[in-house]
Order: sequence, then C-alpha cells, then structure tokens
Amino acid sequence: MPYIGCHISISGGVDNAPERAAEIGCDAFQIFTANQMQWKASPISEESRKRYLLEIEKHHFQKVIAHDSYLINLSNPEPKKQAMSRKAFIEEIQRTTFLSIPYIVFHPGSHLGKGVDYALKTIAESLDYCIENVPDSPVTLLLENTAGQGTNVGYHFDHLDTIIRQSAHPDRLGVCFDTCHAFAAGYNLADESGYQDTFKQFDDIIGLQRLKVFHLNDSKKPLGSHIDRHHQLGEGLIGFEAFYRMINDERFSEMAMILETPGNVKHYAREIKLLKDNLNL
Ligand SMILES: [Zn+2]
Ligand SMILES: [Zn+2]
Repeated sequence: MPYIGCHISISGGVDNAPERAAEIGCDAFQIFTANQMQWKASPISEESRKRYLLEIEKHHFQKVIAHDSYLINLSNPEPKKQAMSRKAFIEEIQRTTFLSIPYIVFHPGSHLGKGVDYALKTIAESLDYCIENVPDSPVTLLLENTAGQGTNVGYHFDHLDTIIRQSAHPDRLGVCFDTCHAFAAGYNLADESGYQDTFKQFDDIIGLQRLKVFHLNDSKKPLGSHIDRHHQLGEGLIGFEAFYRMINDERFSEMAMILETPGNVKHYAREIKLLKDNLNL
C-alpha cells in the first residue's frame, strides 16, 4: 500500500507538522524545513528537533519528505545568485539531515537564457558541490520533473537522466514524479496507454529504481501546455482514473504519494480519504 499524504504547513515550528498531518489522515507528509520564500532561514533548535522526532514516533510516521525553497536555482548563470543558491541548498541538506528526513525534493533549475545543456551541466556541478559540503549526510536528493514553464529544465526524462549521469555522486540522487508537471510537459497520463508508455519511458531512460516519491496533482492546463497549475484530483484534465491506476500500481506500492493540490486542509483530508477508499492493494 502506498503511503498517502500531503504537503503540511510548518507554521509555529517544524515540530507542529506531524500532529497536523495525523489529524487529516496522512500516512506520509512533506514539509519545507524553513520559510520557502526567504533566503535567510533560522536554524532549527535542538528543542524543536527533539519534539519533532517524538511526534513522528507518536504518530508512527515512516515517510517524511522535505521540499527545498522556491528561490533556489542551481543553474543560475549569475555567479552571485548561483553562490546564494548553493549556500541555501547546503543549508537545506543540513536541516533535512538534522531532522532525520531521508529525502529532499528540489526543482532542478532554470537556464534563464543560457540553454538547456548549460543548465543540466551546471546543476550537476552544483549538486556535487553541495553534496561534498555535507559529506556525512545520508539524505537522497530527489530531482522533481517540471512542467517546463519559462526556462525551467527537467521537463523531459532525458534532462533528469543527464543530470544524474553528469554528477559524481549518482548514488545520492533520485527522482520525484509530479503528475501535473508530467502532463503539462506532454506525458499523457490521462489514458491507460499513455500512462503505461510514460512509465516505460521513465524506466528506459532513468530507471524506475530511481523513483522514490510521487506528487499527486491534477492539472488545470492541457497536455503539453508547459504551464504549471495544480488542480484537485479528478477536477482537472488528467482525471481521477490516472490516480486510481497509480495508487493501485504494484510497482509503486511502497512509495510516498504527496498531494500538493490547491485548497485548505479540509480539501486535503477529503482527497486523502478519497484515495484511501480507492485502494485495492
Ligand atoms: Zn510537485
Ligand atoms: Zn507544480
């Protein structure tokens, strides 16, 4: 059975997240480990860490995922901003390690006019730099596939594979598959054959063993639109059938499946229940 859950707010401190997640029926959840819209993050206190770990134990959570800040661009061509991104990403890895969270999901980066190849190479270099700065961390860094909006790279499975192959630390890298981003990028998850073909391509190009986490989001925008607009499950252009297929796919039965759909916690609670009610495994 997959571990179904959603993105959870850390307002008031990371140690508040497990209780919030448990209240709405999550078996897994995702958090930002700091304010995702600010460069400067205050470190997590030892007290907060202790309470967080106790809460995780109390609610029996086995799958927690961290997501990096939206400000970070590991392929920023401007040296000053590149350095800021690397520094912030190192701190992301440190906080994730401090909380004993096994995975951090990140958006690969944007080339800002320098082209896809430049970005893929620079992201691999940045990842190596950051990984080597936190050498003892067991955290696996998960590249998230993107919709390909603006100059974002990572919308084709080839992009993700190229980054992994160019890195000196491929053993520290994996992939988070976002359904809305894949659909907007042109992978037709909406019908059975498109669904099968998408994961065959994933396996042929990247290898399914690299896939660690799903983001379950329906899409407001059409197939191949390259526009990233999440929608509630079954309300968008992917449709509920794809999610039904995914949560009951034996290949994914051990994975965390995280909702990032629009709306409040009530919506999340409703969607988590909907998914759990549809589990056949
Ligand atoms: Zn996502
Ligand atoms: Zn998105």
